Amino acid sequence: MAGGRRFEGPSDLHLHSVHSDGTESAARVMTAAHSRGLRTVALTDHDTTSGWAEAAEAATSLGMTFLPGMELSARNEWRSVHLLAYLFDPDDPGLRAEMERIRDDRVGRAERIVRSIGRDYPLTWEDVMEQTGDGATVGRPHIADALVARGLVGSRGEAFDTILHPREGYYEGHYAPDVERAVDLVVAAGGAPVVAHPTPSGRARMMPLPLLEQLIGRGLAGFELDHRENTEEGKRILRRLVDKHDLIVTGSSDYHGLGKPNVPGENTTRDEMVERIIALGTGSRPVYP
Ligand code: AMP
Ligand code: FE
Ligand code: FE
Ligand code: ZN
Repeated sequence: MAGGRRFEGPSDLHLHSVHSDGTESAARVMTAAHSRGLRTVALTDHDTTSGWAEAAEAATSLGMTFLPGMELSARNEWRSVHLLAYLFDPDDPGLRAEMERIRDDRVGRAERIVRSIGRDYPLTWEDVMEQTGDGATVGRPHIADALVARGLVGSRGEAFDTILHPREGYYEGHYAPDVERAVDLVVAAGGAPVVAHPTPSGRARMMPLPLLEQLIGRGLAGFELDHRENTEEGKRILRRLVDKHDLIVTGSSDYHGLGKPNVPGENTTRDEMVERIIALGTGSRPVYP
């Protein structure tokens, strides 16, 4: 390890704060992780790095190692793909421009969803802004929180199962780069790209194997296999790919504070895999306590 520094497990490398759609400050997320016994953590807010400084300070003051991260929005045809990126250069111009474009488009998209819901329910853009942290990456969870505040649903989960469900007709997508380009951008910024929750229910929602092979050729480092949303069938398929290409496998909680039942440390990443991520990511460094 550089400078003889060494992280310690257990490690949870997928956590969200109010910088995107988590419900807690970055510092509070670090406290929650620490209280669950974690020793190494990453903050992976959607399409932003704005929580890194606060999280690094809080994590290290609690004796934890901090890995800078992000969950980059990407796309493959109709599929929304989430790409975890670790230890990339936050000032890389190409990646930065893309992150800004995604965040900007998310605002217009959320406004359109809210306008459309507002025709049928008492919901305004101001309601949503009240639920969204200053400068945070806006998402459907903030609309869900506004629906809860209005008393229209009881929880985020209920909002996603009812009014926000695509079958209700209010859904709209937002701009996101093709996953090939997303991988290229993360690699060019010195980061280690790992596909988040790669195999959600519904076989067709998993990216096709030939595409995954292509992404591996472009520098995709691994898959987040231990995540509550993955299916057993999908994991079996991806494990074969992992063995064939000696890929990184991670496990994480995808904690969103009160926004989801997921708790820090419910899945963890093996030390050997954290080591490989640290060796691979050259755009920024872990912050040690
Ligand atoms: P968006 O990126 O705006 O399309 O919103 C997707 C986000 O919504 C994901 O990152 C999840 O954090 C969150 N989400 C999706 N389904 C649910 C659910 N059932 N309950 C709570 N949060 C959810
Ligand atoms: Fe999220
Ligand atoms: Fe995700
Ligand atoms: Zn996430």
